[in-house]
Amino acid sequence: MLTAREPLSLAPAVAEVFETVKRRNPGELEFHRAVHEVLEIVAPVVERHPEYVEAKLLERICEPERQIIFRVPWTDDRGQVHVNRGYRVEFNSALGPYKGGLRFAPNVTASIVKFLGFEQVFKNALTGMPIGGGKGGADFDPKGRSDGEIMRFCQSFMTELHRHLGEHTDVPAGDAGVGERELGFLFGQYKRITNRYESGVLTGKGIAWGGSQVRPEATGYGTVYFVEEMLRMRDTSFDGRTVVVSGSGNVAVHAIEKAQQLGARVVACSDSSGFVHDADGIDVELLKEVKFVERARISAYAERRGSRATFVPEGCVWDVDCEIALPCATQNELDEEHARRLIERGLIAVGEGANMPCTAEAVKLFREAGVAFGPGKAANAGGVATSALEMQQNASRDSWTFEYTERRLLEIMRSIHATCYETAEEYGMPGDYLAGANIAGFVRVADAMLALGLI
Ligand code: NDP
Repeated sequence: MLTAREPLSLAPAVAEVFETVKRRNPGELEFHRAVHEVLEIVAPVVERHPEYVEAKLLERICEPERQIIFRVPWTDDRGQVHVNRGYRVEFNSALGPYKGGLRFAPNVTASIVKFLGFEQVFKNALTGMPIGGGKGGADFDPKGRSDGEIMRFCQSFMTELHRHLGEHTDVPAGDAGVGERELGFLFGQYKRITNRYESGVLTGKGIAWGGSQVRPEATGYGTVYFVEEMLRMRDTSFDGRTVVVSGSGNVAVHAIEKAQQLGARVVACSDSSGFVHDADGIDVELLKEVKFVERARISAYAERRGSRATFVPEGCVWDVDCEIALPCATQNELDEEHARRLIERGLIAVGEGANMPCTAEAVKLFREAGVAFGPGKAANAGGVATSALEMQQNASRDSWTFEYTERRLLEIMRSIHATCYETAEEYGMPGDYLAGANIAGFVRVADAMLALGLI
């Protein structure tokens, strides 16, 4: 029986590869963990495929095809100069152009971008769509910055990055700290420099200028659809269930919306300043107003909700009891202690809307307790899948309706669930979505790399 995300020593076939990764990427702990997880799970697969070993597939898959690090100088509203660091890791293009978001946050490092890029390769493969994997961003903190400052930063960032992009080469999207406003400034600068209205070069665009219906909702909705499938396999559903969602950004708000549409009661959500508890169920329209229009802190939601909601400053949302947990904020936010408590209080399912929000130890507990666990690689793949749908619409100069696009998203999430479920069964680990997702994604990428020769 294979185990996943447990601190096991690696099989000899893959241990050497892991040592090389650590040596080449010293101190990059997030990246090491992401690689370790995949190597641990695919070790028996590699043993069945001597052709992978001969072609040094593992070594090649762990080494990005290209990594770009660049200076981003910009001026604030007072004319003061700032210098940030920009990144783009073009990880793997065996299945299509590099595809993956840009993140603007003060804690962005090469390790974070590489871990996200590595995950993205397998996630994108799981969607079954023709997209490779990449990721990028900058150690820029957009919080408290004016629109003018955000625009100047985005323009400076794109002035360097544009030379590496193209609709057939590398197609970024948004991620934490990069939404429609930032993508607008980035796309505007790309268009100005290249003198091309190349819609397919970025996804997550506004509807009026080449974007797709459902893209803003896709990651959150997709996460809920994935969990709905896991629940269906256990003859249950969201209906009447108590749910907690962390974060109150793009992914979180839309996960709350869809979970409530399916009959759940979402009783808490958060941001980095604390969490709100609202026993009647979060008022998602008010939350959107506070977070997306006013760009205020989550405490403003509780103030506007009056006595029905409480704000807990500095509190952790995972102290709130729930049957379904949807971590949608950031990496390593839900640890072993939280996992233990949640399990004791009746947790039945977890869907990772964020990338790697549960620590390795938390995941181990969920799996041991028989909690249905949807790893981010599969559960949050709806965002990138809908980005690929946006690329399809851009290529055919078409735009689809909300209903049609959402139906496509639902079909894709069901198919990703089925792939993970069936792959886990095939490898003797029924119900282990973590193993199913990693193995299915890996095999698709590995087979394509073999077919393309030694490049
Ligand atoms: P946003 O920037 O829109 O939202 C992030 C949210 O998480 C904010 O509410 C933020 O609060 C909160 N947050 C950040 N750190 C913490 C913390 N330590 N404790 C509590 N809350 C915190 O990002 P997205 O919603 O786009 O992305 C969230 C996650 O989902 C990321 O891991 C991202 O990689 C992943 N993801 C996103 C996709 C997308 O389509 N957007 C696609 C697939 C994955 P604050 O405002 O205070 O910082």
